[in-house]
Amino acid sequence: MTARDPVADLRRIAFLLERTLESSYRIKAFRTAAAALAQLPPDDVALLASTGGLRGIKGIGERTAAVVEQSVGGEVPGYLADLEAQAGQPLATGVDHLRAALRGDLHTHSDWSDGGSPIDEMAATAAGLGHEYTALTDHSPRLTVANGLTADRLRRQLAVVAGVNDQGVNEQLGPFRLLTGIEVDILSDGGLDQTPELLGQLDVVVASVHSELRMPADAMTRRMLAAIENPHTDVLGHCTGRYVINRNFDNDKLSGRTRSGKARPESQFDAERVFAACAERGVAVEINSRPERLDPPIRLIELAVSAGCLFSLDTDAHAPGQLDWQPLGCARALRGGVDPASIVNTWPLADLLAWTADHSHRPGSRFWTS
Ligand SMILES: [Zn+2]
Ligand SMILES: [Zn+2]
Repeated sequence: MTARDPVADLRRIAFLLERTLESSYRIKAFRTAAAALAQLPPDDVALLASTGGLRGIKGIGERTAAVVEQSVGGEVPGYLADLEAQAGQPLATGVDHLRAALRGDLHTHSDWSDGGSPIDEMAATAAGLGHEYTALTDHSPRLTVANGLTADRLRRQLAVVAGVNDQGVNEQLGPFRLLTGIEVDILSDGGLDQTPELLGQLDVVVASVHSELRMPADAMTRRMLAAIENPHTDVLGHCTGRYVINRNFDNDKLSGRTRSGKARPESQFDAERVFAACAERGVAVEINSRPERLDPPIRLIELAVSAGCLFSLDTDAHAPGQLDWQPLGCARALRGGVDPASIVNTWPLADLLAWTADHSHRPGSRFWTS
């Protein structure tokens, strides 16, 4: 029997758990074990597995040691086989053509804010899913509960992203490019929670409302319009702020953070005016694939289509396995009648970056609204 790669098996388990919104505590054991073993020469791992010595390594527990022993012995670990059967199924059907058209993801988080994994792990997973590019969009300073990045930390992150890309050219990331970005809070007056100088340097700016979600419709509309009119805004993130509990997902499996959110109603705003402004300014309306958000609702996707909006079909992933959620957003885009050519992350990288730099750049003249 040929030995399998135990590090790859541990990572695959973590990926599948993340994909089902499993609690981060359980996932962490597998990611920690994978990171610990990745430091060791494979021959040492094999020797430790055959002598029962794995349990002496910091970061390896009983369950993870059992996975590694089976993997080194050439069998598919039982835990992994069970998970593949339960959690490895397609998330949506009839969406393969649209999913295949997506070249990237414009909304993702790392452990620099409230994500669960380091930047390079997110990038490697995105590249492994076939993406040509993915934007790292960690939270902004005022979202302290999510450890939002100050201007200084964001500047440091830009250097880290540059390093990941430099490495990628030589190593396994290949042609993949990690884009710089932010999910910037839309403050209650419509201002954006980061310096214009920094926002201007980033490849992708997703602007989202995370506070005072229940302000009166008039005020919320003015707030969103101000953010859309800000020339730095590229994508309007999860516009209604709602939380649904999707019946495809077991509520008990929601992570602590999302479980405490429970269902949450949509924010009230004048969607016709907001989408008209997005269409006029060339700001993309996000179709957020998170199973507990599924934002915007279908009737608003249809309204945005009729307003002539661009879209960005994103995962809002806070862990590597969540990068695989795009089929959920694809199903909703198709139901809402979205033309794939109007989804900015179906565009080649050069077109995407030309658009984020200047929203009048829209490949396919049908998306001109003037
Ligand atoms: Zn977050
Ligand atoms: Zn958000």
